[in-house]
Amino acid sequence: MNLTYLIEGIYLVASILFILGLKGLSHPDTARRGMIQAACGMGAAIVGTLFRPEILHGNYLWIVIGLVVGSAIGIPISRVPMTAMPQRTALSHAFGALAASLVGIAEYIIHRPEITSRQPGHGNVENGALALEVMLGSLTVTGSLIAAAKLQELMRGTPIMFKGQQALNLVLFVTMVGSFVLWMIHPASSVYFYTMAGCAFAFGVMLVIPIGAADMPVVMSLLNSYAGLSSAATGFVLHNNVLIIAGTLDGFSGFILSILMCRAMNRSITNVLFGGFGAVTGTDTGSTEGTMREVTLDDVAVQLAYASSVVIVPGYGMATAQAQHAARELGNVLEERGISVKYAIHPVAGRMPGHMNVLLAEANVPYSSLYEMEQINPEMPTVDVAVVVGANDVVNPDARDNPKSPIAGMPIIEVDRAKSVVVLKRGKGKGFSGLENPLFFKPVTGMLYGDAKSTLTALAQAVQKV
Ligand code: NAP
Repeated sequence: MNLTYLIEGIYLVASILFILGLKGLSHPDTARRGMIQAACGMGAAIVGTLFRPEILHGNYLWIVIGLVVGSAIGIPISRVPMTAMPQRTALSHAFGALAASLVGIAEYIIHRPEITSRQPGHGNVENGALALEVMLGSLTVTGSLIAAAKLQELMRGTPIMFKGQQALNLVLFVTMVGSFVLWMIHPASSVYFYTMAGCAFAFGVMLVIPIGAADMPVVMSLLNSYAGLSSAATGFVLHNNVLIIAGTLDGFSGFILSILMCRAMNRSITNVLFGGFGAVTGTDTGSTEGTMREVTLDDVAVQLAYASSVVIVPGYGMATAQAQHAARELGNVLEERGISVKYAIHPVAGRMPGHMNVLLAEANVPYSSLYEMEQINPEMPTVDVAVVVGANDVVNPDARDNPKSPIAGMPIIEVDRAKSVVVLKRGKGKGFSGLENPLFFKPVTGMLYGDAKSTLTALAQAVQKV
């Protein structure tokens, strides 16, 4: 059989698996299957690529070395705890983008004579794709590394600003795009090419340092989108269809996710894309007026046992405590008593999109018991007890009530409108945004201190004894 047909056939199968995988990932029930389909697609794409003539007739040694090094890095980082998944994802973006960027630079070095004389296969379109690949790839590498460092708390999570920053950003951006254009006109000039790459590396850093940790989800999905578009450009350069398809799918799904995240955090996508990125508009760090009322486990158990409707609102603290099974256990105990139990999911609760859905699915909470923020908020005034399990920012009423708050306008789960609220947390720790939460000082709220997992387990036992 003609080798080209075989390769393109394998690539077609891989592309179909990628699309099925993405479709599967759009629903918690089918997400696991979607993940397996996407992984099989990636396996097929790798096998197909190994049949390409330039690889078949080349030296496999470098590929084996690459596989060994990649596996040596990939296997340990795939075992990080769920709570470290965002920084792990940021690292993956950095590696993917680094590969795209290095391939682009290598292509330029190897094919410089053909590129310079614009020989067939190295015309303006191909050169443009090559420059775009290197530019997007390079800024994604450094941007993702900064995002990973901020999420891992190796760097300050709050926005890093300095005098003249906007002017420096503008100079970098203009030089980067200017070098791109000049190189397209004079492809023989490697100065333009490497100036563009250097500026892109620096611009990636400058793009992410002024962004506060609370905006990081949008940044991550945007960087994901850039990495995908850079891979698609690599596909044009290498005449590799599966790279074009996979890169485009990645680029646009990342972009759609960015838009959805922006909506969930009340940030406009144009603001994210064209400046003001991460600018902190509000300065009020939150009011602590009122008194925090500590409640005892037995009081809460009685309150829950005699409630008719309870809403459990999980957040990042549930993830760190690995308290999802204990939350389900408490839910079961309450349901056995005929109490209605719903789980309210905020789109940016935890540290990555879908974080709470994944944890609750792992604990076998039925999908029908999960309620989106828009579904649960209208019901809040009729809820007897809202149990906040390690959530903070996503239930902060300042986002709704205080226009001076840095998170003003971010939609929240309005637990403060329930008849009563119990907040499970270890102490007086702040949320991801570093702001005070006036919810904790409201008369409707009782604070139940302790690790979420042990508190929930003890609550389930105490409710059974009531
Ligand atoms: P959060 O605002 O980070 O608050 C988590 C709370 O959990 C803390 O106040 C902490 O208080 C408590 N906690 C920590 N460990 C605990 C434990 N073992 N047991 C009980 N409580 C514990 O969480 P969130 O309300 O879920 O909000 C998510 C935040 O992350 C948002 O600001 C969002 O923008 C941001 N973010 C989201 C994503 C995403 O895609 N989902 C990605 C990056 C950032 P104590 O220390 O007092 O216990």
